[in-house]
Amino acid sequence: MTPTSAEKARMIRSVELSLTDMGPGLSVGVNGIDGETARRDTPAAGARPQPVPRDAPRGVPSESLPPWRSVLAVVAHPDDESFGLGAVIDSFIRAGADVSVLCLTHGEASTLHGVAGELKLIREAELRAAGVALGISAVQLEAYPDGGLAAVPLTTLAAEVSRTAASVAADGIIAFDSSGVTGHTDHIAATAAAVQVGADEGLEVLGWTLPAEVATTLRAEFGAPFLGHSCDEIDFTIVVQRSSQMAAVACHPSQALPASVLWRRLDLLGEREHLRWLHTV
Ligand SMILES: [Zn+2]
Repeated sequence: MTPTSAEKARMIRSVELSLTDMGPGLSVGVNGIDGETARRDTPAAGARPQPVPRDAPRGVPSESLPPWRSVLAVVAHPDDESFGLGAVIDSFIRAGADVSVLCLTHGEASTLHGVAGELKLIREAELRAAGVALGISAVQLEAYPDGGLAAVPLTTLAAEVSRTAASVAADGIIAFDSSGVTGHTDHIAATAAAVQVGADEGLEVLGWTLPAEVATTLRAEFGAPFLGHSCDEIDFTIVVQRSSQMAAVACHPSQALPASVLWRRLDLLGEREHLRWLHTV
């Protein structure tokens, strides 16, 4: 879907308006983004997850996700699990993993309000619907202040992550990259809590990131503060399907605006998503 000039101008205005929360406003129904499947063999029942190879040098990203059977996704806002991590979560599920989501805020401070009503309630319902669309096993939603996660003590947020990781017997955690990807301080705080738990409890943590050139293009075209990583800092480049992610995005109409940087990001990413280790054991 290539925006017209008028649409693009509207997109830029909308992005400018929404930069304070950068829960990217999205639309649904984009065409041509379903890619090849990143199917992998499902671990045999009873088999233990195998150690992740560490001998591949950075600069040669793995094409396969770690063989975790229980994955915890830690995010700041309802929609992060879909707009950001959706295709990665889907890839884990296709590989046979159970994926749970811990979302630390209700997203009540978003400047995007595509549905009338109280945003806190609307976005909770949207998150739960998106969880079903993605095939998520469990959604844990907390009520820390949207826009204020950075002011919550790290130990408090880490305790939330720790409790949820224990409750689902997580083999590993996925989160936004330590940069926050969009630069949002809530994203940065949520990931910091995940990394803290990884360090404290010996859990591996993967961060979702963008190639540096994609981030550079988005910054140039939208003025949005995306941050990416160069190839030699990326550990996984996987081929994904986007159909489940798109179904989950459609569950977030309060944030799913036609004018969104998301479409350009997906355009640039194509069939691939990129991750890097934030903590290894
Ligand atoms: Zn967010």
